[in-house]
Amino acid sequence: MYPGLVTVSYIGATILFILALGGLSHPETARRGNLYGMVGMFMALVATIAGITANLGILIGGLVIGSSIGLILARRVQMTQMPELVAILHSLVGLAAVLVGYANFMDTTVHFAGVEHTIHAIETYLGVLIGGITFSGSVIAFGKLSGKIGGNPMLLPGRHWLNLGLLLGTFWACKMFVEQSGNGGGLVPLMIMTGIALLFGIHMVMAIGGADMPVVVSMLNSYSGWAAAATGFMLGNDLLIVTGALVGSSGAILSYIMCRAMNRKFIAVIAGGFGTTTGGGGAAKEGEQGEVIALEASEVADLLRESKEIMIIPGYGMAVAQAQHIVCEITKTLRAKKINVRFGIHPVAGRMPGHMNVLLAEAKVPYDIVFEMDEINGDFPKIDVAIVIGANDIVNPSAQTDPDSPIAGMPVLECWKSNTTIVLKRSMATGYAGVQNPLFFKENTRMLFGDARKSLDEVFKSL
Ligand code: NDP
Repeated sequence: MYPGLVTVSYIGATILFILALGGLSHPETARRGNLYGMVGMFMALVATIAGITANLGILIGGLVIGSSIGLILARRVQMTQMPELVAILHSLVGLAAVLVGYANFMDTTVHFAGVEHTIHAIETYLGVLIGGITFSGSVIAFGKLSGKIGGNPMLLPGRHWLNLGLLLGTFWACKMFVEQSGNGGGLVPLMIMTGIALLFGIHMVMAIGGADMPVVVSMLNSYSGWAAAATGFMLGNDLLIVTGALVGSSGAILSYIMCRAMNRKFIAVIAGGFGTTTGGGGAAKEGEQGEVIALEASEVADLLRESKEIMIIPGYGMAVAQAQHIVCEITKTLRAKKINVRFGIHPVAGRMPGHMNVLLAEAKVPYDIVFEMDEINGDFPKIDVAIVIGANDIVNPSAQTDPDSPIAGMPVLECWKSNTTIVLKRSMATGYAGVQNPLFFKENTRMLFGDARKSLDEVFKSL
């Protein structure tokens, strides 16, 4: 392909990626946004392949293997496994940046001198550094999200000093690398830094408590973008630089939004340590909470039928139970009875940003009855019945009342202010943050125990 045509395709793909991001900012336009992204990526791939003359066989081979794995994964993955899948895909971007960095370093066909050499060396160094942190951090995030690694923060003694030591180590290795790579050396400092980057990624995510994971997920999303941008610099590929910067900056904005949603300071989250009191505080109070009142599905149906204002609060358990379709059916039935049904969505409900919106959109719940937490949190005193479907941490009043709680300060949906709150869950188990929930023991709270989908099937039949 003519170089001019490749450039035009790259510009076209960039525009489509920007339109994709714009589209993804609202459920109504998300489908269109996805389509823009897919067309943009297809254009980018075709233009990149067409612009390459050497080693085409290897490229096509890699593409076929990669696409096949991607296709199989996408077909097999359950909706509940999406957050883990996203985390592991971020790790691949990081790994790619590390490998490209090493390949770039070992490439004997390129020779730079003076300032150009310094820039090239720093480019390579930064690519491997960001890639290494993204890779190991994302692997640990994958472990935490899939439950293979416990949610409690791992707090090493003197961890801030350790982080500082690792940071200083990277500066020292950078100086060594730039000096030595000019004389044909540099592999040792590069390897030392790779080790430091991998250790830092592991330490950073291990030190973060369960409740703060949303910030980590969005932060790693951002890192994967910067890793891709660094790869773009190393390969001299403008599209990769722009795309990486788009992902990096939108991930950074998402991290900011997540921090605000959880009332946390970004630096404090990264420094880790929230959730230290998780086991102790929650467990100690467990026995003192009082009794819970359980209802049958038919009684829940009666309560719903008699209401005028209902607020549904979905959480991670709705995703596990795949209850969104039956929730939509119940909503239709209640609305047909002239009952005002609305949905209240907490920004960190589920296990990934926008998790609940995706599920509700999939079940075709109308967008105009789905509200963000800030829009409806003041309305609970006017609500007859609030139904909490598989949610726990996001409706935990101790976030407001217990300063020692790992989720202290996190804004929560104040469903206990409604006339009656009905909580659907299988047991008295805690949520992701591992904190007991006083909501379940409140006078106006009723529990409907069982798998959310089965319970709602019965409620629907009774309705
Ligand atoms: P939680 O994890 O706090 O609670 C989910 C509840 O669902 C559990 O208490 C569980 O109780 C119940 N549940 C599980 N399966 C079923 C089922 N089949 N039927 C009925 N109930 C079920 O979820 P929330 O959505 O309230 O809060 C999200 C948490 O995840 C927050 O702590 C957030 O910080 C964290 N997080 C969020 C991320 C994001 O980006 N959104 C990313 C990573 C973490 P039981 O076992 O008794 O049924």
